[in-house]
Amino acid sequence: MEVVTAEFLTSAADPAGWPAEGPPEIAFAGRSNVGKSSTINALCARRGLALVSGTPGKTRLLNFFRVVPHGGPELRFVDLPGYGYAKVGKAERAAFQALVEPYVSQRATLAGVVALCDPRREPGEEEHDLLEWLEAAGRPAVVVATKVDKLARHERKLTLERLRASLGVRRPPVPLSATTREGLDQLWARLLTLAAAVSGAGEGA
Ligand code: GDP
Repeated sequence: MEVVTAEFLTSAADPAGWPAEGPPEIAFAGRSNVGKSSTINALCARRGLALVSGTPGKTRLLNFFRVVPHGGPELRFVDLPGYGYAKVGKAERAAFQALVEPYVSQRATLAGVVALCDPRREPGEEEHDLLEWLEAAGRPAVVVATKVDKLARHERKLTLERLRASLGVRRPPVPLSATTREGLDQLWARLLTLAAAVSGAGEGA
């Protein structure tokens, strides 16, 4: 997928900071270091769009990007704050929820949430909570298994199936590598389907 435009729009610390509702939005969630920035950059074919992190906890905001794939439609990507750092405390987790929960529950133009997981590690409470929470909110989730270039050929199928089963999701995770670019087309196809569902629902309303 060729992306014509990808640009940073704004950051928001609370609902007052959200941009006015417009194009369908795709949000990205995952614990720190899972490969979230790299995935967003790879989807947009832009190197420094979402900053590749070095500092855990750096992103405590919702970051909105305007993304126009070739042939449209215009979208927004929303980079949700990372969660589940090694030293995360109850207060920090509550802060994450306070920031993300209103967005996920109230945003009419939210088409779906990409839940990024590293398939080499067992999903934790955060991943389970996120998926349960999206389900309860009636928000579509797309599970992406990141860094699959690190999986050996022979273990790959089993590892991805284990991730699917552990998360209790029906569809297999989208295997993705920002390094080899594997899976980007498949993910784009899923995102465009989600976006079309939201645009369609909005028409004539
Ligand atoms: P974030 O904290 O979730 O935004 O993660 P980053 O995108 O900053 O990536 C964390 C680390 O994983 C960085 O060192 C990246 O270079 C590396 N990384 C990200 N995606 C991939 C991938 O697909 N393959 C490999 N091998 N490394 C990756």
